[in-house]
Amino acid sequence: MFNLILFGPPGSGKGTQSEKLIAKYGFKHLSTGDILRSEIANQTILGLEAKSYMDQGQLVPDAVVIGMVDAALNANKGVNGFLFDGFPRTKAQAIALDELLQTHNTSINLVLALDVPEDELIKRMVHRAKTSGRSDDADENVQQKRISVYKNETLAVAEHYDQFGKVETLNGLGEIDEIFSGICAAVEAKS
Ligand code: ADP
Repeated sequence: MFNLILFGPPGSGKGTQSEKLIAKYGFKHLSTGDILRSEIANQTILGLEAKSYMDQGQLVPDAVVIGMVDAALNANKGVNGFLFDGFPRTKAQAIALDELLQTHNTSINLVLALDVPEDELIKRMVHRAKTSGRSDDADENVQQKRISVYKNETLAVAEHYDQFGKVETLNGLGEIDEIFSGICAAVEAKS
């Protein structure tokens, strides 16, 4: 089993690269943002609670997100590997993920960090808002809030995995296919 975390700030291209990785390697995609948006679309209690945080660019509470991931791991026993996208987003989530994976006799093999400058992140979010309908992409204050949450809470996830030598940082600027080639090289070097 090969488990990968695709790591990076909002707008760094995690979703785009995830789709390509799944097509090539058959990972089971686990995007907490996608799961939360589907809970909102289905108007579940969890979705209603999460929406208020997401609309403000804040993180959904750790316990909620960790519970969702626990359920997804249990529902997908026997897959070749998971691609975690947008999770973990806090150090507490990273520690919880390591513990959950341990109970499934597996662990994180690689954390791929996409590096994109802040002005480019904002441009991409503004552009994405035009077609995605995502309210959290359209509002300038929410964009800034998400970037500051990334710096203050999410960067600690890379530090957590760096102590185990699991982090590879790649330039996330340039052609999508060129970035994807770099990602594939890093995956293959570790598998
Ligand atoms: P992006 O990477 O563009 O910010 P996501 O779809 O990953 O998009 O996340 C959108 C929002 O969903 C986040 O701003 C946050 O409110 C919520 N969210 C997603 N994943 C998590 C998580 N692991 N922990 C807490 N909140 C999350």
